[in-house]
Amino acid sequence: MKNKSVLITGANRGLGFEIARQLGEKDYHVIITGRDEEKLSKALSMLESAGIKAEMILMDVDQESSIQKAAGILFMKNFRLDILINNAGINLKNDKSLISSELNKLEKIISTNCYGALQVTRAFLPLINNYGKIINISSGGGSMTDPVEGWSPAYCVSKTLLNAFTRHLAYELSGHNISVNAVCPGWVKTDMGGSSAPRSVEKGAETPVWLASEAPITLTGKFLRDKKEIAW
Ligand code: NAP
Repeated sequence: MKNKSVLITGANRGLGFEIARQLGEKDYHVIITGRDEEKLSKALSMLESAGIKAEMILMDVDQESSIQKAAGILFMKNFRLDILINNAGINLKNDKSLISSELNKLEKIISTNCYGALQVTRAFLPLINNYGKIINISSGGGSMTDPVEGWSPAYCVSKTLLNAFTRHLAYELSGHNISVNAVCPGWVKTDMGGSSAPRSVEKGAETPVWLASEAPITLTGKFLRDKKEIAW
């Protein structure tokens, strides 16, 4: 049987890279994408030296032309995708107040973390097989039911919007048998999470990898942490 394929955004480091590594170990055909050619090449070499079948495509999720170019490369090859993982994300420094932060910071975070994921989904959707899966890497900070704790409000709002996209896309794509879910990886030791984070990157990647490889296709329109549904 042909190996399943997965494309992951922002996969040159952190959770994206680890998800690529774990799915590669499960024999997925892995496509890592990122906006920096040098970093992406290094990540590809690391995967290849671990015996993983992978390829790389440059893609800045905050640039429509870059997304179209990346999708065009796969169209030209008639490539079919089974899984799309919208992982790329930013959290800007000094994101402390929705009142006093410059509005362009909020715009930048929303444009990368939400519109980026939506635009990538729109561009790659025609390449996704029936019974394919779209996985959005969100955050507990985007929850509308957890108490607000005051950290990174613009980032949290961007993840709330990503969660809303997830629910509506899941509804829209249910007729195509494509599932769409959002995952909170927990607080993970990466460049973004920092060294005080309690979770290893291996643990943070666990639920997205499970969703991609084991979860039933009927599981859709949900927000998950540790392989369990959590409240939006
Ligand atoms: P990270 O180590 O900072 O990695 C972020 C990745 O996103 C990098 O590869 C980065 O590429 C890429 N990226 C950022 N902007 C991009 C753009 N415009 N185009 C393409 N790639 C872009 O962070 P991480 O912890 O692995 O985060 C991965 C995802 O998990 C994010 O969506 C984050 O919000 C989410 N998350 C993380 C935590 C945590 O505790 N770590 C918790 C909840 C959710 P460059 O190297 O080029 O910057």
